[in-house]
Amino acid sequence: MATKPKTAEQTGEDGTAHGPEAVELAKEEAEKAGASKPGQRAEMSNLDIVRFYFDRAVERLELPDDIRVVFWEPYREVTVQIPVKLTDGKTHVFSGYRIQHNGARGPYKGGIRFHPEVDIDEVRALASLMTWKTAVANVPFGGAKGGVNCPADQLERSEVQKITRSFMDKIEKVLGPTRDIPAPDVNTNAQVMAWMMDEYGKLHGHTPAICTGKPIALEGSYGREQATGRGCVYMFREAAPQIGLTPSETSFVVQGYGNVGSWAARIMQQLGCKMVGASDATGAIRSDAGIDAEKLTRHIFEEEGQLTEFPGAEVISPDDLLAIECDVFIPAALGGMIHEGNADRMNCRMVIEGANSPTTPAADEILQDKDVYVIPDVMANAGGVVCSYFEWVQNLQHFRWAEREVNDKLGGIMRKAYRDVSGRAKEEKLTLRDASYLVGIERVVEASRTRGYV
Ligand code: NAD
Repeated sequence: MATKPKTAEQTGEDGTAHGPEAVELAKEEAEKAGASKPGQRAEMSNLDIVRFYFDRAVERLELPDDIRVVFWEPYREVTVQIPVKLTDGKTHVFSGYRIQHNGARGPYKGGIRFHPEVDIDEVRALASLMTWKTAVANVPFGGAKGGVNCPADQLERSEVQKITRSFMDKIEKVLGPTRDIPAPDVNTNAQVMAWMMDEYGKLHGHTPAICTGKPIALEGSYGREQATGRGCVYMFREAAPQIGLTPSETSFVVQGYGNVGSWAARIMQQLGCKMVGASDATGAIRSDAGIDAEKLTRHIFEEEGQLTEFPGAEVISPDDLLAIECDVFIPAALGGMIHEGNADRMNCRMVIEGANSPTTPAADEILQDKDVYVIPDVMANAGGVVCSYFEWVQNLQHFRWAEREVNDKLGGIMRKAYRDVSGRAKEEKLTLRDASYLVGIERVVEASRTRGYV
């Protein structure tokens, strides 16, 4: 949703980049950059990235082909047309998707993304990642994802509300508190979840457990907004001693200063770590003296300033952000940002993947060669879905837990996930990424077999 003053281009006052025109623009830009589709910054798509890691694990587990194919494709895919009259007076047609990858371990669960780059393959990738992530965290959910290819950060609030309600009307039949439970993702937030819950409630009666990540005033959970970033920091605390890092001597960089990135930054700072670089869709900044995460958050989200106008920091190119010398690099933007063409420039000791699929397999290998300790997305950013699980449990009971209780329980689950995965990695001499896929896939296969599904 719009959080910053808009340029004439964004508002469409000069006749450009409004509604689906922004989608076309993204496609053109991707083509110019040599990518085959929007959203593909790297040498391979997000779907290819997830399937690559999945296949490698399947081979290690020696799963037969007939079983592999069940988890290769999603269980159900819904594509809908969303015609919406925007404030320019014209009807614009967006595409919406809800993809349910696997529900063996419980109701489908996964976020809703509003972004011009959203397409069916990206949603397939994110849905499959959710299946493995809920299994690694060992919360009783399957995996799903949804999205609409709208440029929500450039639309009016009323326009985003219309799109959200129309999308919910079209997918509600496959949702439900025991079927499929959406949550926020890129460019969606507690407000969007409130509209989703309200729209679902018009058809089914008040149903807070239909989505998570809702506002506190509407049965949201304390701690949910911070949970993904906080989860990344729990991972840091577990992993830091392995490579001899202490918080007071740790510097870090955040790529993608949104919900996940800004909370990870604030909580890292509370531990005593120092942020030396940050970026968002508008640009990147650095400061060896340190960038105050609380002040940067206020500057962007309350004072509606641009990240690149933050006082005291040097503006750099987004590519140069990767090369900043630091202990921890936290990708928290979009998929494929660390790829074959730029991984070699990275100058950190640890990567904590707040974003989904930020690292391609080729980049992953380069990072391994550079001895960078990578905490993969399926484990590192699971804090969001873990806290969504808590919200769902609270909603089903209409009972609220204190924030401290939420954070303590989150810490317990994240630590267990880290120990399960790192134990397996040690046992089999694997990376955390490979070990996490093994742990996740095994749990899903076991549930599917026990149900008699495969
Ligand atoms: P968000 O919309 O709040 O933030 C995304 C941030 O990325 C914004 O600051 C945006 O400006 C920035 N960005 C976009 N394009 C960029 C680019 N090319 N370079 C640098 N920055 C760019 O979204 P979010 O909820 O924080 O999600 C961020 C990532 O974390 C996504 O990959 C998402 O799938 C993943 N994730 C989110 C959650 C959650 O609970 N929100 C949970 C798990 C994983």
